[in-house]
Formats: sequence, structure tokens, C-alpha cells
Amino acid sequence: MTRMIEEFSAPVPAGAALPSLAGLSREKLNLALGAIGVPERERRMRVNQLWHWIYLRGATTFEEMTNVSKHLRARLAESYGLARPEIVVEQVSQDGTRKWLLRLPAETPGERPHEVEAVYIPERDRGTLCVSSQVGCTLNCSFCHTGTQRLVRNLTAAEIIGQVLVARDRLGDYPGQERAVGPGLPTEGDRLVTNIVFMGMGEPLYAYDSVAEAIEILADGDGLGLGKRRITVSTSGVVPEIERLGRDVGPMLAISLHAVRDDLRDVLVPINKKYPIAQLMEACRTYPPASNAKRITFEYVMLKGVNDSPADARALVKLLEGVPAKINLIPFNPWPGTKYECSDWETIERFSDIVFRAGYASPVRTPRGRDILAACGQLKSETEKLSARERLALRAMAAAAE
Ligand code: SAH
Ligand code: SF4
Repeated sequence: MTRMIEEFSAPVPAGAALPSLAGLSREKLNLALGAIGVPERERRMRVNQLWHWIYLRGATTFEEMTNVSKHLRARLAESYGLARPEIVVEQVSQDGTRKWLLRLPAETPGERPHEVEAVYIPERDRGTLCVSSQVGCTLNCSFCHTGTQRLVRNLTAAEIIGQVLVARDRLGDYPGQERAVGPGLPTEGDRLVTNIVFMGMGEPLYAYDSVAEAIEILADGDGLGLGKRRITVSTSGVVPEIERLGRDVGPMLAISLHAVRDDLRDVLVPINKKYPIAQLMEACRTYPPASNAKRITFEYVMLKGVNDSPADARALVKLLEGVPAKINLIPFNPWPGTKYECSDWETIERFSDIVFRAGYASPVRTPRGRDILAACGQLKSETEKLSARERLALRAMAAAAE
């Protein structure tokens, strides 16, 4: 099988220079309609129509919205567009994983446009889209590539939803569209994007408002219809926001734990100095939506000689006592300049055996999309200039992974 890298030169969609309605909440669509003089009494119905076309049908023009009056369609097209984030590069891995580098329009005139990545990970019975919530990340976890990136801003809810729309556009994942074909794509069910994980670039709980708004749009049954059980927010442990997220929004939760002792977690996940393990575990124990049927995922990256001993595994099991938990052991994905290495396979197996015997099923996450550097922690926007040496090293690593 060949690996395909497509430099994208898609035609610019009509109305691309106009503000886009794609990705907006019902409230914002309502305001947008008000701004072009649609009377208040009509707006709810018009919002429902736009909602249906944008999120259920994947419309990219106003023309195709046949139940909207011709007159209103023309007025909409004069003032608004339906553009999604622009695709800069699309890559398809041998295993079916797809990665898009997306350019976001500048927020203020003159600002350099930012770039983020979204990754689609297909399995037989599901397709998970990993979305970014920030450009870069302020948190500097020592094993994470995103943390080395300087530029940071929160994405808007529309930019988060834009990533989902791009993936569905490119996969042909709307009713009546021709579905993408290729190795690794789901063969069961009628949808290709069935789950969303906030595990791309950024700390979602630092972009709380955008993430909460995006989840409400994703979960809306008349539109994208991705139930909250199919949406997972991964956090490094912003304790005060965990309770709020559970109470007010209610998605599934994943915790980037990575260490079972504060002295080590302070180094690997420095936010631990502010919210140590005991506080984090308390927030998990009381996370409102969690139950045995809706377990919290604990992510644990396997770092050679750092956190991968049998004693660590036993301490992990002990720490999670009384918490409805799943464990996800993630083989470390190296990046140029990192001082860490991935644990040996035997060490990972020994660790996972201990976890397995304690009652946690299939705890190791298979690395996906290694040939396109799409795996965890390797997302890094091109807006951050890589040195020539880094570029070469990245290319060599991608080639070695093939
Ligand atoms: N900022 C959030 C979500 C994005 S990171 C968080 O930290 O949870 C998604 C997951 O990938 C986290 O568990 C993160 O710790 C992990 N990760 C980061 N860099 C990695 C790397 N190089 N190899 C493997 N996993 C990594
Ligand atoms: Fe940020 Fe998550 Fe990376 Fe830590 S692991 S630097 S919180 S993206």
C-alpha cells in the first residue's frame, strides 16, 4: 500500500471571504439572521432550517437549502458563507488514519493565520476524530511535542466544529454522499465519524467556553447527533474545571495521569504542582457523569526507565481503587529533540499484565498513523517554524515508521 501526501489546492468556496455560518451555535445563527433583518418571529424556524442543512446534510452552499425561500437564500449569500477551515495538507496513513493540517482565518486583521491538526482514526465498528482545542499549549508536559510550541490561542467553538465538518466532507459522511473508500475504514454502521476525542493540540479545559459550546453543538440530536457518551475530553488535570464540565456539560472524561507519584508527575505533567494527584483523584471520584457504565479513562504514557516499573503498575492499580476507571497505556511516540524513549515491548507487556490481572481489559493503545506523525503528542502546527534539522529528523522518523 502506498502512503499518500496531498498538497491541497482545493477551490476556494463561494463566499469564503464572508463570515462563515458553519460551526455556529443556534444562538449565534439567530444573531446572524437578526443582523440581516430576519424578523424575530421567523428566526427560530429559520435557525432550525439552517441547522438541518449545515449539520445534518453538510451543505456548503445556500442554494441547496431548498426549503429556505429564494429571497432569504440570496440575502444569506450576500452576507455570509459556509466555509470550513482551509485544508493545507491532507495525509492518509497505510492503516487508514487521516490527518488534516488546517488553516484558521486570522482573528484580527493583520494577524498571521494559525494552523491546527485534526486526526481521523478508523476502526471496524467506529471512527474517532481527534480534534484540537488550542493552537499550541501553555502547559509544557516534558514528553509532549505540542507543549514545545510557542504560539497559543484558544480555538473558537466554530473552529472546533469546523474540524468535524472538514473530516465529514472529506470522508463523504453525510446522507446521500459517496462514502470514502480505502483500507481501515469502518465497515459497520452508517456513519464514518462516530466519536470525538479532544486529544489533539491544546488543553481543552483551558479553552473551556469554546469546548463546552462545541460539545453542545456536536451532541444536538437534530444535527451532528454525537451523543455525549461518544465525546471524550482529555485533560492534564485542570481540577477546578473538571467538576464544572461534568455538571454543566457531561461528556466522557480522560485524564492524562502518566505518573503515580507527585514528585514524578510534577516533572512529566507540571500542572501537577498546582493540582496534585490527591486533588485530581478526588475530582475524578466525584465527576458527576462517571459510573461503572461510563468510566473515566486514565492515560498513561510508557516512558522507558521513568514510569514503567512493576511497582508503578501496582501503585497505579491501587490509586484507582474506588474510581470507575479504564486504563489506557500509550506507547510513547518520540519526536526530534525529546529526551525520552518508549518502554520496551516486554516492559509494556509486564506492566499491562499487572493492570489486566487487576481487572482492566485490553489496556494498551495501538499506535496509529505513525507514518504520518499523527500519533499522540506528535501534532505540531507548521506555523511554528521547525528548524531544517527538525524537519529532516521528522521525515526520517516517519520513513522509519513505515
Ligand atoms: N492536553 C490534553 C489533551 C491533548 S494530549 C491532555 O494532556 O490530556 C492527548 C494525550 O496524548 C495525552 O494523554 C497526552 O499526555 C498524550 N501525549 C502527549 N505527547 C505524547 C507522546 N509523545 N507520546 C504519547 N502520548 C503523548
Ligand atoms: Fe498540553 Fe496535553 Fe501536551 Fe501537556 S500533554 S503539553 S497538556 S497538549
